Amino acid sequence: MTHATIVILGAGVSGLTTALLLSRNERYSITIVAKHMPGDYDIEYASPWAGANMLPVSKDGTPSNQYERDTWPEFAKLARDAPEAGIHFQNTVAYRRSKDTGTAVSDWMSELVRDDAWFRDLMPDFKAIPKSELLPGTDGGNSFTSVCINTALYLPWLVSQCLKNGVVVRRGIADHIADAASLHHSGKRADVVINCTGLSSLRLGGVEDRTMYPARGQIVVVRNDPKIMATISGTDDGPEEATYVMHRAAGGGCVLGGCLQKDSWESQPDPGLAIRIMKRCIELCPKLVPAGKGIEALSIIRHSVGLRPMRERGIRIETERIACPEGKQLTVIHDYGHGGYGYQTSYGCSMAVERLVQEAVGTQAKL
Ligand code: FAD
Repeated sequence: MTHATIVILGAGVSGLTTALLLSRNERYSITIVAKHMPGDYDIEYASPWAGANMLPVSKDGTPSNQYERDTWPEFAKLARDAPEAGIHFQNTVAYRRSKDTGTAVSDWMSELVRDDAWFRDLMPDFKAIPKSELLPGTDGGNSFTSVCINTALYLPWLVSQCLKNGVVVRRGIADHIADAASLHHSGKRADVVINCTGLSSLRLGGVEDRTMYPARGQIVVVRNDPKIMATISGTDDGPEEATYVMHRAAGGGCVLGGCLQKDSWESQPDPGLAIRIMKRCIELCPKLVPAGKGIEALSIIRHSVGLRPMRERGIRIETERIACPEGKQLTVIHDYGHGGYGYQTSYGCSMAVERLVQEAVGTQAKL
C-alpha cells in the first residue's frame, strides 16, 4: 500500500481533530508538529482556554453552517458513548434583548437567539422560551440541549486517539509553512502539509494572512454548578462585554464569561472585568450561588484569558500550491480562522479538509 506523508502543523482542536479523522485511513502516514501541546497554557494557543460548548452562531447556507451541522452528531455521539472524552449534555438557555442589536456581542449571537433559528431541527429539545419564563428586560430566546466540553480532558483524549491510530506527535516550530514539509517523522518530504496554526497564520511565513485578528476572551472558572448553560445577547457594561455560564463535564468546573474584545492582545486578566463577569453571571443564573448571596459565594479556581483566532471572511479551508525555496511545489491545505467557534465546527472542518487531502493525494498519484 502506498502511503501519503502528511504533516499537520498545530495541535489545537483543529489540528488534532483533523489528525484523528485522517488517521482512520491506513493510506496516510501522519506527523503532528506543534509549538504548543495539550497541557500547555499559553496566550498563543487558543484551544485550552475555550469553555467549550456548542451554541450555533453560523448563518444558514454558509460553509460554517455546514461545519456546525456536521459537528453536532459527533459531539452528541461522544457525550452519549465516550465518557472518557470529557463531554456531557447540558440544558441550555439563550436570551435576547432587542436593545443589544448592533453590538459586536449581539451580532455574534444573533442566529442563536432569533425566533426562527435554523438549528431548531438539529439540537434536541429545541423550543422558544415561553414569555412567562423570560428574564426581566429580555424579549425572546431559545432553549435546547447542547454539550459542554471539558477541554482539559478532551484535548489529551484527542491526542491519545491519534497515538492509538499511529500518528506521531512531536514538538517543533516552523518559521515558514514550507519548513513543515521536512518535519515528517519518516524523514521523507511531506506530500501534504495541513496548516492548523490558528492566530499564528497572521505571521507564519508563506501564509501571513493579514485578515486575521484576535478577539480577546476573559473567563473566571469556579467550582459552583448552576446545573444549566445560559447566555444573553448583551450587557449594560459595554458593547464588547458578554455573559455566559457553562458547566464542564467531569470536574472541569464552571466557566463564567466573558467578552469579545477585537484587536486586543492583552494576556493578563482585568480584575474589574472579572468582577463584572461574576456579577452578571449570578444575575443570569441565580442558582450559581445560595439564595441571597453574591460573588463572595463563588469558589474561584482561576482567572484566564484567551485570544479567539478571528478572520475577516471566516474560516479558511482551502488548498494552495506553494513554491518552496528549493524550487519544488508544496501542497498546503489551510484550516484556520475558527474565531469563537473552533470546537463547534471542528468535525465539520476536519471532514472538509479530509476531502481536500483525498483530492490532493489523488492528483499527486496521477502526476
Ligand atoms: P489553536 O488552539 O490556537 O492551536 C494552534 C496550534 O498551532 C498550537 O498547537 C500552536 O502551538 C501551533 N502553532 C502555531 N504556530 C506554529 C508554528 N509556527 N510552528 C509550529 N506550531 C505552531 N469555541 C467553541 O466552539 N466553543 C466555545 O465555547 C468556545 N469558547 C471560547 C472561549 C474563549 C475564552 C476563547 C479564547 C475561545 C473560545 N472558543 C470556543 C474558540 C476556540 O477556542 C478556537 O476557535 C479554537 O481553539 C481554535 O483552535 P485551533 O486549533 O485552530 O488553534
